[in-house]
Amino acid sequence: MKRIEVDVLIIGGGIAGLWLQRRLEQRGYQTLLLEAANLGGKQSVCSQGIIHGGTKYALNGMLTPAANAIGEMPARWQAALAGEDEIDLRQARLLSDAHYLWSTASLSSKLTSFFASKALRGRVNNDAPLPPLFQHPQFKGNCYRLNELVLDVPSVLACLQVAGKQLQGCAGETLRWQGDHWYWPEYSLQIRARRQVLCAGEGSEALQQHLGLKTPMQRRPLHMVMVKHRYPDSLFAHCIGASSKPLATITSHPHSDGSQVWYIGGEVAESGVERSEAEQIAHAKHSLQQLLPWVDLGQADWATLRINRAEPKQNSLSRPDSAYAEDLGDFILCWPTKLALAPNLSDQVLPMLAPPAGLACYELPSELPQPAISQPIWEQLL
Ligand code: FAD
Repeated sequence: MKRIEVDVLIIGGGIAGLWLQRRLEQRGYQTLLLEAANLGGKQSVCSQGIIHGGTKYALNGMLTPAANAIGEMPARWQAALAGEDEIDLRQARLLSDAHYLWSTASLSSKLTSFFASKALRGRVNNDAPLPPLFQHPQFKGNCYRLNELVLDVPSVLACLQVAGKQLQGCAGETLRWQGDHWYWPEYSLQIRARRQVLCAGEGSEALQQHLGLKTPMQRRPLHMVMVKHRYPDSLFAHCIGASSKPLATITSHPHSDGSQVWYIGGEVAESGVERSEAEQIAHAKHSLQQLLPWVDLGQADWATLRINRAEPKQNSLSRPDSAYAEDLGDFILCWPTKLALAPNLSDQVLPMLAPPAGLACYELPSELPQPAISQPIWEQLL
């Protein structure tokens, strides 16, 4: 029988688990991270990589608790990117140092952007030069520069890898909970941890069943659209209309074949859940034509992605306001609820843990599988 003993076992290698593992290692904890598939394998690698400062949550004119809780995150990530935080993201790729809020020329959208700008003094800059795509004479709307970053998520995940302390295996399936330790029959491996932190995203529902835990989870489904093309300009923006949610949120990502991919979320993705893939692509093409009539995407390739956001259950499927960490004794249950909130989540978990026990460093037996980093989702689909 092989045995591993650690202070903290982290289950799930998305942004939540990886960020936490790095911080704990920096503080002298012995950790092991268990990932069922690839690092970042579910929501994290499918996210748009926007480090929100909460601006889009204030489109109804008020700074909601969500906008306040997330407001500190861009500065926190900036510090990590500069190598001035506990987490070092100097090797991560910044796709854009700003995200934009743009409205078409209709009266209702102008009003929405007006309220947003009043509510958000200091976070929004409407004197900044327009990004090249909006310098076209046909652009008649408003455009505000937000102090928010957009990151290449796989490069962030790569910065968070902890060599020799990440294992590919599925808790609750290949590894079973035995009351006070985990057992993996295939490798005769026993893992003992003083605490286990569940960061399994959507997988935390099945994991809770295995462990007899009962915190309800909600799924908010999305039908994202991606288009691969050779139009020269990139776009990082929320397009706002009459409602308090962006009509479309568009980010741009380099593809390995030299083209770029525009990845489209927002209302298009939320309201598109009932549409078939063909209907969703037709809807997105039509929306882009209406919003950006001067942009010719030419011979573009289109694809869609159905994916759920997994979060603690809220009343009427509303969006949670901040990261979530619940102390359940042997277990700590976590959902960051946003990629941007991973630092905030680890801030919540750290005080729930006893100091490191001074355990000796362990070595993973070489036959055990180790997880790789997920490919960007557009490389998989386009
Ligand atoms: P995940 O990234 O889903 O990771 C969970 C991991 O746990 C997975 O790798 C999975 O394989 C593993 N796992 C599951 N079950 C088990 C098990 N039993 N044993 C071992 N491992 C297991 N947020 C932002 O801030 N900005 C954005 O631009 C943004 N865009 C988004 C776009 C989309 C389409 C979606 C879906 C979400 C977006 N979000 C965004 C939200 C953000 O992506 C998520 O809140 C965040 O990535 C969740 O991270 P996580 O680590 O909890 O989960």
